[in-house]
Amino acid sequence: MKKFALAGNPNSGKTTLFNALTGSTAHTGNWPGVTVDKREGVYKKGNEDVSIVDLPGIYSLSPYTPEEVVSRNFIIDEKPDCVINIVDATNLERNLYLTTQIMEMDIPLVVALNMMDAVKKNGDSINVDDLSRRLGVPVVSISALKGEGIKELMEKAIEASKTPRKGNTVLEDSNLHHLINDVKIAFEGMGVDNPLFHAVKLVENDEIEIDNHKDLVKMVDAFKATFTDEVFGDDFEALVSDARYSYISNHFSTVVSKKSAKQEEKLTKSDKIDKVMTHRWWGIPIFIAIMFVIFHFTFAEDFLFMGTIANWFGSEAGLNIQNVGVINFFTGMGAEIDEITGEVAALEGIPSLGVFLQSWFGFLTGSLMDGANALFDMAGASETWYCSLIVDGLLNGLDAVCSFIPQIMMLFLFMAILEDSGYMARVAFILDRAFRKFGLSGKAFIPMLTGFGCSVPAIMATRTLEDQKEKNRTIRLITCFSCGAKAPIWTLLAAVIGALGLHYADIFVFSMYVGGIFLAVILAIFMRLFDKEQYVSPFIMELPQYHMPQPRNVGAHLWEKLKHYVIKAGTIIAASLVVIWFLQSFGVENGTFCMVEDMGNSLIGYVGKALAYVFHPTGWAMGEDGWKYVVSSLTGLVAKEDVVGTMALLFSSGDEGALAESIALSGSITGAGIYAFAVFNLLTFPCMAAISTAYAEQTRKEFVKTMLFWIIISYVLSGVVFWVGRLYEIAWWGGLLFTLFGLAFIVVVAYIVMSRNKETSKGA
Ligand code: GDP
Ligand code: MG
Repeated sequence: MKKFALAGNPNSGKTTLFNALTGSTAHTGNWPGVTVDKREGVYKKGNEDVSIVDLPGIYSLSPYTPEEVVSRNFIIDEKPDCVINIVDATNLERNLYLTTQIMEMDIPLVVALNMMDAVKKNGDSINVDDLSRRLGVPVVSISALKGEGIKELMEKAIEASKTPRKGNTVLEDSNLHHLINDVKIAFEGMGVDNPLFHAVKLVENDEIEIDNHKDLVKMVDAFKATFTDEVFGDDFEALVSDARYSYISNHFSTVVSKKSAKQEEKLTKSDKIDKVMTHRWWGIPIFIAIMFVIFHFTFAEDFLFMGTIANWFGSEAGLNIQNVGVINFFTGMGAEIDEITGEVAALEGIPSLGVFLQSWFGFLTGSLMDGANALFDMAGASETWYCSLIVDGLLNGLDAVCSFIPQIMMLFLFMAILEDSGYMARVAFILDRAFRKFGLSGKAFIPMLTGFGCSVPAIMATRTLEDQKEKNRTIRLITCFSCGAKAPIWTLLAAVIGALGLHYADIFVFSMYVGGIFLAVILAIFMRLFDKEQYVSPFIMELPQYHMPQPRNVGAHLWEKLKHYVIKAGTIIAASLVVIWFLQSFGVENGTFCMVEDMGNSLIGYVGKALAYVFHPTGWAMGEDGWKYVVSSLTGLVAKEDVVGTMALLFSSGDEGALAESIALSGSITGAGIYAFAVFNLLTFPCMAAISTAYAEQTRKEFVKTMLFWIIISYVLSGVVFWVGRLYEIAWWGGLLFTLFGLAFIVVVAYIVMSRNKETSKGA
């Protein structure tokens, strides 16, 4: 099978093209030795199948980042049959910088001019033939997003792969020409592959090249001695890159024609949207508002506060809302009848779509559970250990984990829309601008925002940070960003908050996400306080143009998530539930090891109770059921969904509605306790997979510090949340006073860091 490689700048649309080409055949892994994503798939639509490899996004082939090294080595060592260089046509000149380097290799090359739909929409045009002639390689205009030109691209690439190609260079025109040519001839004489590419790299003083060709360095130095340049002296790296850029701007700016000079000044639609969305003052409030709307739609039990408003008007007018049955039918919840007085209690409000779907889905899975129970009953086996294992252990836990699917999918849907429309990229930009003063860089926000999906790729993404301190800091802060697997925990706790009769379920979940971001910022500011060096990495980022999220992309994304969730539930979570069931069913009672009557005597009960003492000061582990919260947090180390599965086991109840109620009814926890428990689970050790990723990414010493950071911060902050929360519950003004003190402290620290940062950046 032929093998094609996709190479291009970050955000040029590689992944989009890759998905369009390979459909469902794709699989991801890591490049051996480095933790850079590797994706491979098969293109099946042509006459012959072609294997497609998505190389990591890069701006150049220099050896500075693992992405660059991986891409470069892949092309040189694996010799794909053709390289498809994907170029963002709305940013042609900058993207061609990489093209001019790939061109120098002796390998078939086709340029895919992507985002042509956006170019057309802006009213611009690109002379593709002219571009192709000047580059000396085929160019095909495509839109990966809309699926246009992809077939033609593949035909051209298959065509190109049939004949070998010799590299060519745009440095031909520069004063470096002779130097490069001499080195190239020397390489050719030695029978080196890709002589032109290696010659240019050696002239550039490329580290890898110098290591590989120590013998030639002397010769090149001899050539270089005769060479002087007025501007750059003997900085050959700068010389080469300047020569590339000036060639590009001299020769390729003419292939793009903007609609008209006047039009050019006019802002594109995307720029106009950005004027609002990334506004200096409104950017962050808009972001917060968007997030709030998302969580309100997904988790609110009182949608649009209609219940509150209706009750307010209702009680003003002395009305009582009577249609209880109808309301219950449509909402799955709603008004309740007070059992003592017989009066219709206040209407709870109309649930949001998320809560609505949840209620019905929970009903569905709950019925399946009842069915299983009934089967065992009929067989007269309801008292056996295997019934307990299957029903109480496995089904009960899986039911709890799976009943969250509707709300979680809704959350992922909103996130996918934000991501696909191009808004998420802006968030890093907005945060960078706001927090640069405090020594925090947008470069670090990118891996952090990835953490909303999963901590594993997020920790891997910290590789893009050159500064080691910044990298370590970022890894530690990643738990502040609630990963997808923690979503079921918040969903369950939101339901518990509802069942406790409190009205802030949506605000609670919202605060777990947005509050997490701000907590990360505050913690980062505190960390900077102990940092003598005040360097902030520069942050340059290409903001992709906004576009309507494509149903196909969003759908594919959701499908991936759903598949992942279900597979995870069926494998690792099911397996761990069996283990947890065993640990909570067996123990020592009356001096013998047996299946215990009282869960408190089980193996896990003993461990939990012992540990509960350790967690007593934090507040949320107090009381008769305190150990259950401790045990649940502990099992979350395997996978965060296990927290929910374990709670289902320990509070022994099935579907989410009933589970939440039995937790609320256990009477051992209040809103403050729930909040604190949530904060602990947010900030503490992530799951095993993420911990081992951190271990791989950090030195032993830094890793130990990271582990300490996670446990200390989660222990202390969950305690603070509990006690301040209790204060609010007992005397709200006391809580408020404490909060104000805390805020004042944060402001002072932020001010110190900011003024120090200002000094050093002035000095630099
Ligand atoms: P990668 O970083 O190179 O993998 O780029 P992605 O595939 O993630 O794409 C970056 C952004 O560009 C995403 O928001 C895509 O939806 C968008 N994009 C990709 N291809 C096109 C295209 O042909 N037209 C437009 N308008 N946007 C595109
Ligand atoms: Mg990508």
